[in-house]
Amino acid sequence: MALDVEIKSQLAQYLELLESDVEFVASLGNDEDSQKVKEFLLEIAEMSPKLSLVEKALDRTPSFQVNRKNQEPSGVAFAGLPLGHEFTSFILALLQVAGRKPKIEDELITRIQSIQSNLHFETYVSLTCHNCPDVVQALNILSVLNPRISHTMIEGGMFKAEIDERKVMAVPTVFLNGAEFSSGRMSIEQLVEKISGPQDASTFNNKDIFDVLVVGGGPAGASAAIYAARKGIKTGMLVETFGGQVMETVGIENMIGTPYTEGPQLMAQVEQHVKAYPVDIMKGQRAKDIRKNDLLEVELENGAVLQAKSIVLALGAKWRNINVPGEDAFRNKGVTYCPHCDGPLFTNKKVAVIGGGNSGIEAAIDLAGLAEHVYVLEFLPELKADQVLQDRLAQLKNVTVLKNVATKEIVGNDEVEGIIYTDRADNSEHRIDLAGVFVQIGLVPNTNWLPETIQTTDRGEIIVDKHGQTSLAGVFAAGDCTDSAYKQIIISMGSGATAALGAFDYLIRN
Ligand SMILES: Cc1cc2nc3c(=O)[nH]c(=O)nc-3n(C[C@H](O)[C@H](O)[C@H](O)COP(=O)(O)OP(=O)(O)OC[C@H]3O[C@@H](n4cnc5c(N)ncnc54)[C@H](O)[C@@H]3O)c2cc1C
Repeated sequence: MALDVEIKSQLAQYLELLESDVEFVASLGNDEDSQKVKEFLLEIAEMSPKLSLVEKALDRTPSFQVNRKNQEPSGVAFAGLPLGHEFTSFILALLQVAGRKPKIEDELITRIQSIQSNLHFETYVSLTCHNCPDVVQALNILSVLNPRISHTMIEGGMFKAEIDERKVMAVPTVFLNGAEFSSGRMSIEQLVEKISGPQDASTFNNKDIFDVLVVGGGPAGASAAIYAARKGIKTGMLVETFGGQVMETVGIENMIGTPYTEGPQLMAQVEQHVKAYPVDIMKGQRAKDIRKNDLLEVELENGAVLQAKSIVLALGAKWRNINVPGEDAFRNKGVTYCPHCDGPLFTNKKVAVIGGGNSGIEAAIDLAGLAEHVYVLEFLPELKADQVLQDRLAQLKNVTVLKNVATKEIVGNDEVEGIIYTDRADNSEHRIDLAGVFVQIGLVPNTNWLPETIQTTDRGEIIVDKHGQTSLAGVFAAGDCTDSAYKQIIISMGSGATAALGAFDYLIRN
């Protein structure tokens, strides 16, 4: 296997950073996949005198462990090839096994090292899944930091029989000690929380009063935190998962001044930028209530209460559900919201895309390249997607567009087997046998927990004035959770700045 010249030169720079000798312990057979893995490992091992390859039978073939030479196994293993989005996971694993400290907070390292149970994780990924590396990298870090923990990344393409046997229909899907543990993107904080339980409320007892407390860690929240901190005021950031929706975005071509970037890359830079200022970032925590007494109070799901003189809500949005029977029951068993991630699992199968807007038609075009047949179900009599996308869709032979139809039910036994819809013209009911349903009907703001004192539109969007001020004095809002006309990264960043400046103005006057 010849690695791309550019990738090789980047890799060479990383290999310079290896702090000790690393051994790939590989289980290889005579099959074609094993040869690919062998060529990959040999090519990389040849690039540094600190790397070597030995062969040994392991649970899966082809697979390999990444171990520090002459030491106990690190716990980090890869089954199949860690290419595509997983190549970075592979490089980070190499560096961390060799001794480089993972870039996470010391407090989180302590929490990981204090886990006492023996945990073996297995994560099924596809190489086109941009949500998978977060989970793979997090579980690799856990394995490197705690000898009781081990983790194997399994590339679905090379382990198709296993995927079918374990009924994996969404990636990343994680198994813990043989039982299904989680599905979908999770941050390292969320994984640790799921393993060891919620962080104790007392951890937050000694927090001072914040001048500005930002709730949310997408582009709007990050921008608000930077603008607030640059005013020299005490700034906190309460974040369920840093990065927000941008982490779901593969290519971004409308960050003005940056012709092309990718979501995780952009948000890693944004996080570094926030960390250049004294912002108290509290990750893996969800706000569940806001009250106004003498000060504003934000209550967390673990019961802790944070106090602030002003608040910026930057809560963003999440995928809208279709709310029909079967959607919940078959979530990650054929019902999915991420065509980029899960598309490859439906190769040569029949799938439906619900929604004829831009995201639905983009998904249908994308899926048509893999699936046997794609059905697009649109509730309205016309598709709403841009004409250019509709034209492209019309050229595809394996796509059927059904307009003016209402999805009634997603049916199956252990996994999705079909979809039932009603033709709105004559109320007739129809069934299509298929394996996957991709829901693409837009987003809903994360605001359903807010008190009535913070007014929202009938769509749940927080109503703000031109300073980002909400109906509750001292509480500001920004980004996709507000009633702004358009929802984009750059618009969220701009409104985050406005809300922080609005909050600063409020603090001066009150
Ligand atoms: C697939 C996809 C592709 C996109 N592509 C582009 C593109 O190419 N260009 C572009 O400009 N825009 C794009 N967008 C839109 C863009 O991602 C959003 O407009 C932007 O992310 C909104 O930023 P935000 O900070 O308002 O919210 P979000 O990014 O949604 O962030 C919300 C944050 O709030 C946190 N949060 C929510 N509730 C709570 C709570 N109760 N307690 C604590 N934290 C909480 C979340 O964890 C998250 O950190 C895309 C969106 C999607 C889904």
